[in-house]
Amino acid sequence: MTNILVTGGAGYIGSHACKALKRAGYTPVTFDNLVTGWKDAVKFGPFEQGELTDRARLDEVFATYKPAAVMHFAALSQVGEAMSEPGRYWANNVGGSLCLIEAAVAAGCLDFVFSSTCATYGEHDNVVLDENTPQVPLNAYGASKRAVEDILKDFGAAYGLRSVIYRYFNVAGADPEGEVGEFHQPETHLIPLMIQAIRGERAGLTVFGTDYDTPDGTCIRDYVHVCDLVDAHVLGLKWLEQGKESRVFNLGTGSGFSVMEVIEHSRAVTNKDVPHSIGDRRAGDCTKLVSGSTRAGEELGWEPKRSTLDQMIADAWNWHQNGHYET
Ligand code: UDP
Repeated sequence: MTNILVTGGAGYIGSHACKALKRAGYTPVTFDNLVTGWKDAVKFGPFEQGELTDRARLDEVFATYKPAAVMHFAALSQVGEAMSEPGRYWANNVGGSLCLIEAAVAAGCLDFVFSSTCATYGEHDNVVLDENTPQVPLNAYGASKRAVEDILKDFGAAYGLRSVIYRYFNVAGADPEGEVGEFHQPETHLIPLMIQAIRGERAGLTVFGTDYDTPDGTCIRDYVHVCDLVDAHVLGLKWLEQGKESRVFNLGTGSGFSVMEVIEHSRAVTNKDVPHSIGDRRAGDCTKLVSGSTRAGEELGWEPKRSTLDQMIADAWNWHQNGHYET
């Protein structure tokens, strides 16, 4: 079986990717420091604990498993935290990624799939966000991801590293079979926070700003189901296996929903009230992030299957009935 090194395989998206890889006939090897990930989420292949900045540890893991490719999910990913602690974002997301990329090249592992973000685009009025949109991030999270994209480009030119870079929009939902799901501590993302509020696990949800230039004044995002997202990663692996060139793809559905609309849909799907109040804007938030690209569909053959907002809320809701890891 072909080994794939999955950094962040104990996290939300990485654990779903491991499941998809196993289903596609690969062996996912999780490399994770368990700072935000969970050992209990590693269910589909071997686990190696370590830091991305530990080059000796990475060399050891590459030597042991001889992976055919790297899928790099491990990162800090909270906009609010990135605004208040930017140094951690540069050290972890950029420093850690650079160390990983250098280790991969040294090991001769030259196929690389990278999780980037629509946050690299920043604020653009009335502009369709496709892969050619200028990247002007508003926060250190987006800036750190853009920097790694640049590193991958330079290492491609210098060493023949080939990369598939995915710019995710807002990832939501959970494995419909309930084996893995979203569990962050602390939680900062809209849909799981809303579910916790509905379940009475927190006092309520604060809507971050109602004075944006949108129809209802709240921010608009493009939500994509985690299972669809990781299916794209398997397609990206095949793309590299076929010897194709490095490529960037947006992963979003092209449909935007405001925070208030997400609350409304949650009320309808769960048939329960969503306790919420109105608060100030969160620093670093863009008004609207909606993909305007069809490239992943046209070139990779990617077809989202579960990415309606209601399906994502329903899958997240079902997971959250038992949805947590112990360790
Ligand atoms: N949001 C909110 N209250 C919260 C968390 C998020 O109003 O407690 C809003 C946030 O301002 C953004 C949207 O929900 O407009 C999605 O935020 P999330 O943190 O889930 O993802 P991000 O867009 O930051 O990647």
